[in-house]
Amino acid sequence: MTEDAPATDLETLVADLEPRRALVMVAHPDDADFGCAGTMALLCKAGWEVDLLVATNGNKGTKDLNRTGQQLAAVREEEQRQAAAILGVNEPIFLGFPDGGVENDGELRGLVVRELRRLRPSLAITFDGFRPGFNHRDHREIGRAAYDAIYPAADDHLFYPEHREEGLRPHRPDMLLLSGAPDPDVVIDIEPVLDLKVAAITAHVSQVGGRSTEEMLRWWRERAGDGPGPRYRESFRSVTWERARRSRDARRS
Ligand SMILES: [Zn+2]
Repeated sequence: MTEDAPATDLETLVADLEPRRALVMVAHPDDADFGCAGTMALLCKAGWEVDLLVATNGNKGTKDLNRTGQQLAAVREEEQRQAAAILGVNEPIFLGFPDGGVENDGELRGLVVRELRRLRPSLAITFDGFRPGFNHRDHREIGRAAYDAIYPAADDHLFYPEHREEGLRPHRPDMLLLSGAPDPDVVIDIEPVLDLKVAAITAHVSQVGGRSTEEMLRWWRERAGDGPGPRYRESFRSVTWERARRSRDARRS
Protein backbone atom coordinates (compact mmCIF):
# COMPACT_ATOMS: atom_id res chain seq x y z
CA MET A 1 0.00 0.00 0.00
CA THR A 2 1.28 3.48 -0.77
CA GLU A 3 0.73 6.87 0.82
CA ASP A 4 -1.97 7.46 -1.83
CA ALA A 5 -4.05 4.63 -0.41
CA PRO A 6 -7.60 5.37 0.69
CA ALA A 7 -8.23 5.98 4.36
CA THR A 8 -8.65 3.12 6.80
CA ASP A 9 -11.72 3.55 8.96
CA LEU A 10 -10.26 3.71 12.46
CA GLU A 11 -13.45 2.47 14.14
CA THR A 12 -13.49 -0.61 11.88
CA LEU A 13 -9.78 -1.23 12.39
CA VAL A 14 -10.10 -1.31 16.18
CA ALA A 15 -13.67 -2.68 16.42
CA ASP A 16 -12.55 -6.10 17.68
CA LEU A 17 -10.06 -4.80 20.22
CA GLU A 18 -10.86 -5.10 23.92
CA PRO A 19 -10.46 -3.30 26.20
CA ARG A 20 -10.67 0.05 24.42
CA ARG A 21 -7.36 1.20 25.76
CA ALA A 22 -4.28 2.33 23.81
CA LEU A 23 -0.68 3.01 24.84
CA VAL A 24 1.51 5.28 22.72
CA MET A 25 5.26 4.96 23.31
CA VAL A 26 7.64 7.62 21.98
CA ALA A 27 11.09 9.06 22.64
CA HIS A 28 10.59 12.82 23.14
CA PRO A 29 7.93 15.26 24.30
CA ASP A 30 6.21 16.33 21.00
CA ASP A 31 6.92 13.07 19.07
CA ALA A 32 3.43 11.70 19.67
CA ASP A 33 1.77 14.97 18.68
CA PHE A 34 3.61 15.19 15.36
CA GLY A 35 3.24 11.47 14.65
CA CYS A 36 -0.19 10.44 15.84
CA ALA A 37 -2.09 13.23 17.67
CA GLY A 38 -4.94 12.90 15.16
CA THR A 39 -5.25 9.17 15.79
CA MET A 40 -5.06 9.72 19.56
CA ALA A 41 -7.77 12.40 19.35
CA LEU A 42 -10.03 10.13 17.25
CA LEU A 43 -9.58 7.28 19.73
CA CYS A 44 -10.39 9.58 22.68
CA LYS A 45 -13.49 10.85 20.88
CA ALA A 46 -14.59 7.23 20.34
CA GLY A 47 -14.37 6.66 24.10
CA TRP A 48 -10.94 5.03 24.29
CA GLU A 49 -8.57 5.50 27.21
CA VAL A 50 -5.29 6.65 25.70
CA ASP A 51 -2.02 6.67 27.65
CA LEU A 52 1.27 8.16 26.53
CA LEU A 53 4.73 7.01 27.57
CA VAL A 54 7.60 9.42 26.80
CA ALA A 55 11.09 7.96 27.26
CA THR A 56 13.06 11.21 27.56
CA ASN A 57 12.54 14.54 29.24
CA GLY A 58 13.53 16.41 26.07
CA ASN A 59 16.46 18.10 27.82
CA LYS A 60 18.54 18.77 24.69
CA GLY A 61 15.89 20.08 22.29
CA THR A 62 16.98 23.72 22.07
CA LYS A 63 19.43 26.04 20.30
CA ASP A 64 19.05 28.59 23.13
CA LEU A 65 22.50 28.84 24.78
CA ASN A 66 21.01 30.45 27.89
CA ARG A 67 18.79 27.54 28.75
CA THR A 68 19.99 24.63 30.89
CA GLY A 69 18.91 21.08 30.17
CA GLN A 70 17.14 20.92 33.53
CA GLN A 71 15.08 24.05 32.83
CA LEU A 72 14.20 22.79 29.40
CA ALA A 73 13.14 19.36 30.70
CA ALA A 74 10.63 20.94 33.12
CA VAL A 75 9.21 23.14 30.35
CA ARG A 76 8.93 20.31 27.84
CA GLU A 77 7.23 17.93 30.24
CA GLU A 78 4.66 20.61 31.04
CA GLU A 79 4.12 21.30 27.32
CA GLN A 80 3.53 17.58 26.79
CA ARG A 81 1.00 17.50 29.65
CA GLN A 82 -0.91 20.37 28.06
CA ALA A 83 -0.83 18.78 24.60
CA ALA A 84 -2.16 15.50 26.04
CA ALA A 85 -4.98 17.34 27.83
CA ILE A 86 -6.02 19.01 24.54
CA LEU A 87 -6.42 15.58 22.90
CA GLY A 88 -8.11 13.90 25.88
CA VAL A 89 -5.06 11.70 26.52
CA ASN A 90 -4.30 10.72 30.14
CA GLU A 91 -1.49 12.34 32.12
CA PRO A 92 1.73 11.28 30.30
CA ILE A 93 4.22 8.87 31.86
CA PHE A 94 7.78 10.23 31.66
CA LEU A 95 10.61 7.74 32.01
CA GLY A 96 13.07 10.63 32.37
CA PHE A 97 15.98 9.47 30.20
CA PRO A 98 18.09 12.30 28.77
CA ASP A 99 17.78 13.15 25.06
CA GLY A 100 20.11 10.88 23.12
CA GLY A 101 20.18 8.44 26.03
CA VAL A 102 17.51 5.99 24.90
CA GLU A 103 18.87 2.45 24.64
CA ASN A 104 16.92 -0.68 23.80
CA ASP A 105 18.35 -2.49 26.81
CA GLY A 106 17.00 -4.57 29.67
CA GLU A 107 16.29 -1.51 31.81
CA LEU A 108 14.17 0.31 29.22
CA ARG A 109 12.36 -2.86 28.15
CA GLY A 110 11.59 -3.60 31.81
CA LEU A 111 10.05 -0.15 32.26
CA VAL A 112 7.98 -0.58 29.09
CA VAL A 113 6.91 -4.10 30.09
CA ARG A 114 5.75 -2.78 33.47
CA GLU A 115 3.51 -0.16 31.80
CA LEU A 116 2.14 -2.75 29.35
CA ARG A 117 1.29 -5.06 32.26
CA ARG A 118 -0.12 -2.22 34.37
CA LEU A 119 -2.20 -0.41 31.72
CA ARG A 120 -3.09 -3.53 29.64
CA PRO A 121 -3.73 -1.80 26.30
CA SER A 122 -5.26 -3.72 23.41
CA LEU A 123 -3.62 -1.29 20.98
CA ALA A 124 -0.01 -0.07 21.09
CA ILE A 125 1.52 2.66 18.94
CA THR A 126 5.23 3.38 18.56
CA PHE A 127 7.88 4.30 15.99
CA ASP A 128 8.98 1.94 13.27
CA GLY A 129 12.40 1.22 14.78
CA PHE A 130 13.42 -0.85 11.75
CA ARG A 131 12.91 1.90 9.16
CA PRO A 132 15.90 2.20 6.83
CA GLY A 133 17.54 5.54 6.13
CA PHE A 134 17.56 8.64 8.30
CA ASN A 135 15.95 8.21 11.70
CA HIS A 136 16.64 9.77 15.11
CA ARG A 137 18.49 7.23 17.22
CA ASP A 138 16.11 7.72 20.18
CA HIS A 139 13.13 7.03 17.88
CA ARG A 140 14.75 3.85 16.61
CA GLU A 141 15.64 2.67 20.12
CA ILE A 142 12.21 3.26 21.72
CA GLY A 143 10.54 1.72 18.65
CA ARG A 144 12.62 -1.43 18.97
CA ALA A 145 12.36 -1.52 22.77
CA ALA A 146 8.56 -1.27 22.59
CA TYR A 147 8.46 -3.97 19.90
CA ASP A 148 10.69 -6.28 21.94
CA ALA A 149 8.77 -5.54 25.14
CA ILE A 150 5.48 -6.50 23.48
CA TYR A 151 6.92 -9.66 21.97
CA PRO A 152 7.86 -11.73 23.81
CA ALA A 153 8.64 -10.10 27.17
CA ALA A 154 5.38 -8.59 28.47
CA ASP A 155 3.33 -11.74 27.90
CA ASP A 156 5.79 -14.26 29.37
CA HIS A 157 5.84 -14.21 33.15
CA LEU A 158 9.48 -15.27 33.45
CA PHE A 159 10.56 -11.98 31.89
CA TYR A 160 10.76 -9.44 34.73
CA PRO A 161 9.26 -11.90 37.29
CA GLU A 162 9.58 -9.21 39.98
CA HIS A 163 6.50 -7.54 38.46
CA ARG A 164 4.42 -10.32 40.00
CA GLU A 165 5.18 -8.96 43.43
CA GLU A 166 3.56 -5.71 42.31
CA GLY A 167 0.43 -7.64 41.34
CA LEU A 168 1.09 -7.28 37.60
CA ARG A 169 0.13 -10.09 35.22
CA PRO A 170 1.47 -10.92 31.74
CA HIS A 171 -0.17 -9.03 28.90
CA ARG A 172 0.09 -8.57 25.16
CA PRO A 173 -1.70 -5.96 23.07
CA ASP A 174 -3.60 -7.36 20.07
CA MET A 175 -2.38 -4.75 17.62
CA LEU A 176 0.70 -2.58 17.20
CA LEU A 177 0.79 0.41 14.86
CA LEU A 178 4.23 1.56 13.70
CA SER A 179 4.53 5.24 12.92
CA GLY A 180 6.96 6.44 10.25
CA ALA A 181 6.99 3.06 8.48
CA PRO A 182 8.12 3.16 4.82
CA ASP A 183 5.36 0.74 3.81
CA PRO A 184 2.20 1.79 5.68
CA ASP A 185 -0.94 -0.32 5.40
CA VAL A 186 -3.08 1.88 7.67
CA VAL A 187 -3.87 5.45 6.59
CA ILE A 188 -6.00 7.45 9.02
CA ASP A 189 -7.93 10.49 7.79
CA ILE A 190 -7.34 13.03 10.56
CA GLU A 191 -9.14 15.99 8.96
CA PRO A 192 -12.05 15.83 11.49
CA VAL A 193 -9.56 16.43 14.33
CA LEU A 194 -6.94 18.49 12.49
CA ASP A 195 -7.58 21.49 14.76
CA LEU A 196 -6.86 19.34 17.84
CA LYS A 197 -3.65 17.98 16.34
CA VAL A 198 -2.43 21.45 15.46
CA ALA A 199 -3.38 22.75 18.92
CA ALA A 200 -1.43 19.86 20.51
CA ILE A 201 1.62 20.66 18.36
CA THR A 202 1.49 24.37 19.14
CA ALA A 203 1.36 23.51 22.88
CA HIS A 204 5.05 22.64 22.44
CA VAL A 205 5.99 26.33 22.51
CA SER A 206 9.70 25.63 23.12
CA GLN A 207 9.80 23.62 19.87
CA VAL A 208 7.47 25.48 17.50
CA GLY A 209 8.36 29.01 18.61
CA GLY A 210 5.05 30.24 20.01
CA ARG A 211 3.13 30.07 16.74
CA SER A 212 -0.63 30.28 17.21
CA THR A 213 -2.89 27.36 16.39
CA GLU A 214 -4.68 29.49 13.75
CA GLU A 215 -1.39 30.42 12.07
CA MET A 216 -0.26 26.81 12.05
CA LEU A 217 -3.62 25.56 10.74
CA ARG A 218 -3.44 28.05 7.86
CA TRP A 219 0.10 26.88 7.08
CA TRP A 220 -1.04 23.23 7.00
CA ARG A 221 -4.10 23.98 4.87
CA GLU A 222 -2.03 25.87 2.29
CA ARG A 223 0.27 22.89 1.90
CA ALA A 224 -2.28 20.09 1.74
CA GLY A 225 -2.04 18.05 -1.45
CA ASP A 226 -4.91 17.30 -3.83
CA GLY A 227 -3.88 13.74 -4.63
CA PRO A 228 -5.91 10.62 -3.93
CA GLY A 229 -6.41 9.56 -0.31
CA PRO A 230 -7.04 11.84 2.66
CA ARG A 231 -5.57 15.35 2.56
CA TYR A 232 -4.51 15.12 6.20
CA ARG A 233 -3.34 11.72 7.26
CA GLU A 234 -1.37 9.68 9.76
CA SER A 235 0.05 6.46 8.37
CA PHE A 236 1.19 3.29 10.11
CA ARG A 237 2.30 -0.27 9.47
CA SER A 238 0.11 -2.62 11.49
CA VAL A 239 1.38 -5.71 13.30
CA THR A 240 -0.86 -8.32 14.88
CA TRP A 241 0.04 -11.55 16.66
CA GLU A 242 -1.38 -14.90 15.69
CA ARG A 243 -1.64 -16.04 19.30
CA ALA A 244 -3.48 -12.90 20.37
CA ARG A 245 -5.92 -13.35 17.50
CA ARG A 246 -6.49 -17.02 18.41
CA SER A 247 -7.21 -16.28 22.06
CA ARG A 248 -9.62 -13.52 21.04
CA ASP A 249 -11.46 -15.93 18.75
CA ALA A 250 -11.55 -18.50 21.57
CA ARG A 251 -13.06 -15.93 23.94
CA ARG A 252 -15.83 -15.30 21.43
CA SER A 253 -16.77 -18.93 20.75
ZN1 LIG B 1 11.70 12.99 18.63
